[in-house]
Amino acid sequence: MLTHIYDFVVIGSGISGISAANTLIKNNKDVLILDKARNSGGRLSTRIHPTFSFDHGAQFFTTKDLEFSQIVHKAIQTQEIAILEHPEKGTVYAGNPVFRPFISKLTGSLEIMQNASVTHIEKPQDKPEERWCISIADNQPIFAKNIILTMPAPQTNALLPEYLTELKHTSLQALYDPCIAILAGVEVPLSSSIFLDNSELLDKPILIEKGNIGWSIAKWSHSVENNTAYLSVIIHANPEFSSQHIEEDVSTFPDSLWEEWKSHLKTDARFDVSALPKHISYLKGHKWRYARVTKTADEECERTNQKYSIALAGDWLEGPRIESAWISGRNAAISLLPQD
Ligand SMILES: Cc1cc2nc3c(=O)[nH]c(=O)nc-3n(C[C@H](O)[C@H](O)[C@H](O)COP(=O)(O)OP(=O)(O)OC[C@H]3O[C@@H](n4cnc5c(N)ncnc54)[C@H](O)[C@@H]3O)c2cc1C
Repeated sequence: MLTHIYDFVVIGSGISGISAANTLIKNNKDVLILDKARNSGGRLSTRIHPTFSFDHGAQFFTTKDLEFSQIVHKAIQTQEIAILEHPEKGTVYAGNPVFRPFISKLTGSLEIMQNASVTHIEKPQDKPEERWCISIADNQPIFAKNIILTMPAPQTNALLPEYLTELKHTSLQALYDPCIAILAGVEVPLSSSIFLDNSELLDKPILIEKGNIGWSIAKWSHSVENNTAYLSVIIHANPEFSSQHIEEDVSTFPDSLWEEWKSHLKTDARFDVSALPKHISYLKGHKWRYARVTKTADEECERTNQKYSIALAGDWLEGPRIESAWISGRNAAISLLPQD
């Protein structure tokens, strides 16, 4: 059987990988995305539970870039993206009600292999014109003429061959803060005193940024049939707390951060915390080791090596934001396309 050689393999189906593939497809290239995770989206990811749903990575974004703005405005019309008024940032965009439908829309026409953890990429140093051989854990290798790496900088560094010294140098420049995220789900009867004289509470997210909590948003959904309201709470510990505890077992923090969240809520006069049930239906922690980029790679550093047909993308090259990740993916793709 003849071995298929893709025009491009993109490693990572986060927003930068999706953007790179989107640009390549528009240029009629044969593209495969590989991602080690079960779902696409990377740090823009959603955990779905039968009654609760959580975006436990990125929360909202803004747009200035023309192409990305057009994509977002189409997604507002088709209701995958919602417009929110942020108390400090003004108008921002968020998933409706979570980011999963938006990511599914963006990836709908792309060829993606999930659960494909790339362990090694190889091309002989003395044969830059040869194709790349991409090794995947528990799977057959994949071959490509060009390759784009979109993982966080330390993971990119680990995959790059030693002889690509300039790209390796670039990937050593970025720095990150970690983030510990807590996902909590509570069920409350619709007849609860929480909603007495306050039924509009169900439509309003609860925002808390205090103490060890760098950001928290709680959103209600409800079922009249079951006479139950469901509160999905995301708590992001602040960078100091997260750095201090990132090496600990992920099961150790949910209780303490959940108790802290409730204690801050006690100061909110609209909310009767004593009416929350003692039993919490869902409580999990998640560790983002490379959450927010605190330093991007220097602008003058190499991002593409055309001789070896390889380019780098990711928020760590453009800025710590969803939109920057999108721009970096597009830039990487363009840098490897033939110039007219
Ligand atoms: C807690 C948190 C809160 C945030 N809040 C915001 C916010 O409110 N607004 C905002 O704009 N940004 C926010 N961000 C940042 C935003 O999420 C990122 O800038 C953006 O999602 C980065 O996208 P990316 O494609 O560059 O990287 P990633 O999303 O990290 O994608 C990399 C992909 O590579 C895959 N991968 C890694 N190694 C391998 C391998 N060996 N083989 C195959 N696949 C691999 C991963 O599974 C992943 O899917 C937040 C991030 C976090 C973690």
